[in-house]
Amino acid sequence: QLSKRLAAVAAFVPKGAKLADIGSDHAYLPCYLAKRELISSAVAGEVVEGPFLSAQTQVQAEGLRDIIKVKMGNGLEVIQPGEADCITIAGMGGTLITEILEAGKAKLGGVNRLILQPNISAISIREWLYNHGWELIEEAILEEDGKIYEILSAEKGNPRKPYGENELEKGLLFGPFLLKSKNEAFIKKWTLEKENWQRIARELDKAKATEETDKKREEILRKIRLTEEV
Ligand code: SAM
Repeated sequence: QLSKRLAAVAAFVPKGAKLADIGSDHAYLPCYLAKRELISSAVAGEVVEGPFLSAQTQVQAEGLRDIIKVKMGNGLEVIQPGEADCITIAGMGGTLITEILEAGKAKLGGVNRLILQPNISAISIREWLYNHGWELIEEAILEEDGKIYEILSAEKGNPRKPYGENELEKGLLFGPFLLKSKNEAFIKKWTLEKENWQRIARELDKAKATEETDKKREEILRKIRLTEEV
């Protein structure tokens, strides 16, 4: 049984994909998909030895060694040419995910679908996709065990397409698809973020005004305004 978070990532993987799951840890995601015959092959990549060994043990225990190759390596370096057409990277910060994509750009030639699940800073990922020719095609947001997760799915295409006229800033922050549905998890996330920014703004009000604090305050007030509009 997968966590609700990983099940939502799995739901975005196209049937029959040649998957590369980067930072796979126990390889739960590729094992779940392979067991249900939803992928044709997978690479489970890990940079740390402990999780790499856990992934190997899991794949072996599930009898999936013919379908899933567990490889030790940094980011996308574990992918050989033609080996993957879909990449999942889940359970890390948005900035780390974009660093992995940036460092591995040369490996993205044959990849048609990216499915990314940042624990924080989804905006960094939307910005990276936007600047690198990837079009967001689906998003999800959900709550599990008191934490809120966003999942972003993208294909090569027109990065501008999901964002309405003059809505780029809002779309990058909140997610163009999430903005349309505004489900319970979305409202909870942004209510909490707003309260947090309001707290920071109050702290900045008390602090000695400098050019830097003024700038920070302005930025935060702008985000509070955007959140209220949304
Ligand atoms: N993807 C799984 C999930 O969502 O449940 C595991 C998430 S776990 C919190 C993050 C994993 O990413 C860790 O096992 C870590 O070793 C691995 N990781 C971090 N940076 C990595 C990199 N540059 N390349 C490969 N794996 C990495």
